Amino acid sequence: MSLPFFGHVIDGEEVPSASGETFTSIDPYTQEPWAEIALGGAAEADRAVAAARRAFDEGPWPRMGFTERGRLIHRFADLIEEHAEELGRADTHDMGKPITQSRDSDVPRTAMNFRFFADHARLATGETLPMDTGHHAYTRFDPAGVVAAVAPWNFPMMLESWKVAPALGWGNTVVLKPAEDTPTSATIMARLALEAGIPPGVFNVVHGYGPDSAGAALTENPHVDRITFTGESGTGRIIAAAGARNLVPVSLELGGKGANIVFDDAELENAVSWSIRAIFTNTGQVCVAGSRLYVQRGIFDTFMKRFTEVASAMVIGDPQDERTEIGPLASQEHFGKVSEYVSTVESSGGTIETGGFVDGWRVAPTVVTGLGQDSRHAREEIFGPLVVAIPFDTEEEALALANDSRYGLNAMLFTENLSRAHRMAARLKAGSVWVNCFFIRDLRAPFGGAGDSGIGREGGDFSREFFTEPKAVVMQIEQ
Ligand code: NAD
Repeated sequence: MSLPFFGHVIDGEEVPSASGETFTSIDPYTQEPWAEIALGGAAEADRAVAAARRAFDEGPWPRMGFTERGRLIHRFADLIEEHAEELGRADTHDMGKPITQSRDSDVPRTAMNFRFFADHARLATGETLPMDTGHHAYTRFDPAGVVAAVAPWNFPMMLESWKVAPALGWGNTVVLKPAEDTPTSATIMARLALEAGIPPGVFNVVHGYGPDSAGAALTENPHVDRITFTGESGTGRIIAAAGARNLVPVSLELGGKGANIVFDDAELENAVSWSIRAIFTNTGQVCVAGSRLYVQRGIFDTFMKRFTEVASAMVIGDPQDERTEIGPLASQEHFGKVSEYVSTVESSGGTIETGGFVDGWRVAPTVVTGLGQDSRHAREEIFGPLVVAIPFDTEEEALALANDSRYGLNAMLFTENLSRAHRMAARLKAGSVWVNCFFIRDLRAPFGGAGDSGIGREGGDFSREFFTEPKAVVMQIEQ
């Protein structure tokens, strides 16, 4: 039986590669290919950038006005919601995310991102600055031009929408390269954008790999005006260098090793429930995962007993099944990386309280104690369902442990002490701090990280800064 085919979407047409080359997407649960995808390279990346360039320089999109653009983006969001089943199944086949997460959480969040950024752009105000000199100045936010967006595989359509939505809302044109492990939802989205009436060339998708392939060609193209990237810190360094060569602003959302601090006055069931979600949602393949769990010594045993109980009761299964909470890891390669950490816990002196290998590319929710702050497991981004739990005594010690990381993406803390919550939030090295919760986002708020977690922030006005060329206009008002 032939597999469903997903092409590039360039200048309003879904097309194969000029070379005719393809690759397959492997469903990590069945370990079988389920879709065939056009394999692009420099030829496709260059064609897509040229199409986006024309659509920006000559087409209606940047000139259309916020209201009409917003109407088309809202129509696009409607179609995303109407195709929730198809989009959700696509991500689930591509990377094994449980269907209840892809269809019921990622799809609505994707649609919401498009709606939010369309409205945010339409409602945004500029500044008028009265000057003492008989002049006044005001600000404009004009679209930057052609945006190259390179995305990871862990929340395929949703993270793509964090880039594409503000870029489109502000009147830019886009070339998106989705991750090679999760290509299909991007083609579906681009088809829906055309159906919604978004003009050809405004939202293009090119498939392929990173190095020496479509990803590198796209980020090195001199006709690109902005590069927005989410992925590993090492890839971020390569893309930052490509941007530097063309003097193009680059936004980097990179890796993380989130600290989750549970104080002894925390509301226990709430802390357990959010801490479970923080590390095991999406099988731990989350940049903001709470993978370092610091628990105050007085409640360490009680907390860990309950946490381990809940972790071991999670339903591991077929991600297409509505009951499944934990699917397989996204690919054979990623399973190889995570399993190396799992299989070295005990030789490193740690204890697996629950979890370990299941079968196939599956790892159960794995809770590790007995490893110190300096272990590789506590320092490196594993990006899988493995949490290292470490006891602490004082607030100062918790802060020092949490901040002892080359990453600075996010942190969580659980406490009923209001002053302590604010004190900690101020001192934690993290782009996001969640108090008594996890991964709740307000799209107006900044999202991103310090250190090896990236450069720049996404969200609200922060996205506007990146996807526009802010301009000062100074007028003389008295002759
Ligand atoms: P990755 O860096 O391997 O790949 C990401 C994308 O970059 C893919 O599309 C890939 O094809 C492309 N790419 C790879 N090499 C390239 C090159 N030389 N030039 C151009 N493009 C290239 O990352 P991944 O494994 O897909 O994603 C997981 C990583 O993403 C984790 O480190 C995770 O923490 C991070 N992440 C961060 C955030 C955040 O918001 N900070 C969100 C999600 C994931």
